Amino acid sequence: MIGNWKMHTTPSEARELARELRERLDGIREADIAVCPPATSIAAVAEALTGSNIAWGAQNAHWAQTGAFTGEISTSALKELGCTYVIVGHSERRHVFGESDEMVAKRLARVIASGLVPILCVGETEQERQQGQTDEVLRRQLELACADIEEPPAIAAYEPVWAIGTGRRAEIGDVETVHRFIRERLAARFGSKAEGIRILYGGSLKPANVADLASSEEFDGGLVGGASLSAASFAELIARAIERRNH
Ligand code: PEP
Repeated sequence: MIGNWKMHTTPSEARELARELRERLDGIREADIAVCPPATSIAAVAEALTGSNIAWGAQNAHWAQTGAFTGEISTSALKELGCTYVIVGHSERRHVFGESDEMVAKRLARVIASGLVPILCVGETEQERQQGQTDEVLRRQLELACADIEEPPAIAAYEPVWAIGTGRRAEIGDVETVHRFIRERLAARFGSKAEGIRILYGGSLKPANVADLASSEEFDGGLVGGASLSAASFAELIARAIERRNH
């Protein structure tokens, strides 16, 4: 279960939220838990979470190791900050900041080469869905994102754009169909190396709507935006998912 804090929290707010999460989630062993604060808050979160069962990561990383790339973040800096994960190709990067599939591919390749764990995000827009293009869009995003790598991303996240921050979680049947499709595409590209890939769902996941997904074999976890900004709701979401999984 990975929280994406987006551009929320100053360093002091992030430290506080991370401390509260640590109090609530310490000792949980049934789930891998992480948070991805804004880059400016990673150091504060690292300080608060070191020695806990909660890992941390970044929301993006550049494809060059260093250089004249104003405003970008290097994987070596993220490693020094103790990051485990890096989100790559989030829909806000693609749609708000115009990141192309080619940029996503380059970022993904660098993250994998650096030893950080990528979370490759893919997902269709509302219009693409209505026009029956979901498979085609996902096939293209996966194929192009993986163009420069020999090893598959350890984690992929299906994040339908129309479900992000809208309160409209995708139906379980659709999530299962798409997760299966993603697994098939990655297996076609990487063969047996793709076997252990975890597929997360993201898009308006909340404590109240996680249970049916958590009971599905296709659901390996969640990428959680809004509901990860409160320690109480993120902890409840994780607890409900574990409870349902163990049921
Ligand atoms: C996200 O930002 O990746 C996300 C899934 O957001 P939300 O949970 O708020 O829909």
